[in-house]
Amino acid sequence: MIVVFTGGTGGTKLVQGLQHIVPPEELTVIVNTGDDIEWWGLHVSPDVDSVLYGLAGLLSKERGWGVEDDSFRCLERMKQLGQASWFSLGDLDLATHLTRTMLLRAGKRLSEATAELAAKFGIRARVLPMSDDRVSTMLDTAKGTLTFQEYFVRERHQVEARAVRFEGAENARPAPGVIESIETAEAIVFAPSNPVTSIGPILAVPGVRQALRETKATVAAVSPIIGGEAVSGPAGVLMTMMGWPSTIAGVAKAYEDFLDVLVADRADEAQALTMSTTGLRVLSTNTIMRSIDDKRELAAFVLGACTAQQNVVG
Ligand code: GDP
Repeated sequence: MIVVFTGGTGGTKLVQGLQHIVPPEELTVIVNTGDDIEWWGLHVSPDVDSVLYGLAGLLSKERGWGVEDDSFRCLERMKQLGQASWFSLGDLDLATHLTRTMLLRAGKRLSEATAELAAKFGIRARVLPMSDDRVSTMLDTAKGTLTFQEYFVRERHQVEARAVRFEGAENARPAPGVIESIETAEAIVFAPSNPVTSIGPILAVPGVRQALRETKATVAAVSPIIGGEAVSGPAGVLMTMMGWPSTIAGVAKAYEDFLDVLVADRADEAQALTMSTTGLRVLSTNTIMRSIDDKRELAAFVLGACTAQQNVVG
C-alpha cells in the first residue's frame, strides 16, 4: 500500500500522478480536514474535495479547486440575498456539500460520508479524512484570531500571522484506517502541501506522528518550497512564523522525526547536495507539476526513491 499525506491544491497534483502508476486498491490518501468550514449551513471539506475531484478527473484545471466548467449562479443569488459570499462554491460543487451534509446529519461519520462520495464519483483509491472529529486550524493574526479560510480566502493571506493552533486536535482520534495504513504501508509520501496548515493538522492528531516514527515504511516528502519560496500560497511565511527556514531545510525540519527521503526541486540541487545525513537522503528532480506527465514523472521518481531507500536500509 502506498500512503499519501496531503492538503488540497498542491498535494492533489501528486496524488493524480500516483493514481497513474499505482493500482487504486494500493493507494490510500490521508487528507487534512483542519480547513473544513461550515458555509451556508453546509459542511465543506475543501481539501477532501480537491482530492476527490482530482481522482475523479473532475477538478478544475484552471482554478486548481472546485469542479471543471462549474457555474456560480447560486453564489450570485446568495450575494443578492445579502449572504456572505467571500467563499466561492460552484453550483455542481454544492451538490457534493449537500450530499456530505445530509450524510452527516443522518449520523454518518466524516470518513463514511467521504467513502460514499468517493464511491459515487467512481474512485477506487481509499480517501481518508485525517479524523472524524472536528479539528479547526486557527491563526492568531494582526486582525485577531481567524479560521484558516478567513485567513487564506477572505484575507488572501495578506495579514500577518503570528501563531497557529489546531483547535480540538488534543481530543481528536485518527479516522478509522489512518494508523493501520501508516503501520502497514510499503511507502509513505508527503505530497508538496503546506507543512504548517495542510500537513500540520494531520500530524497534530494524537497517534499519527508516533505511528510515522515507528513505521517500517520509507517516508518521503516532496518539497512545496522551491528556491526559498512556496510555489503558491503562504507556506513560506507560515514556515518562517514557525521558526523554520523557508527552504528545503525548513521542510526537512518540519518532518525531521520521521522523514527518510526529501525530494527537492532541481533549483535547490546545490543545497540538496549538502543536506544528506545518515538519517535523511535529499534528492532533486523537476518538482513543478503543470502537465499530467510532470505529475506522473514526479510520482514515479518519489516511489523509486522509496524503493532505493529500502534497498539502502535493508
Ligand atoms: P491547500 O490545501 O490548497 O493549501 O493545498 P496544499 O497544501 O496541498 O498545497 C499548497 C502547497 O503546494 C503550496 O505550499 C505550494 O508551494 C505547493 N505547490 C503547489 N503546486 C506545486 C508544484 O507544482 N510543485 C511543488 N513542488 N509544490 C507545489
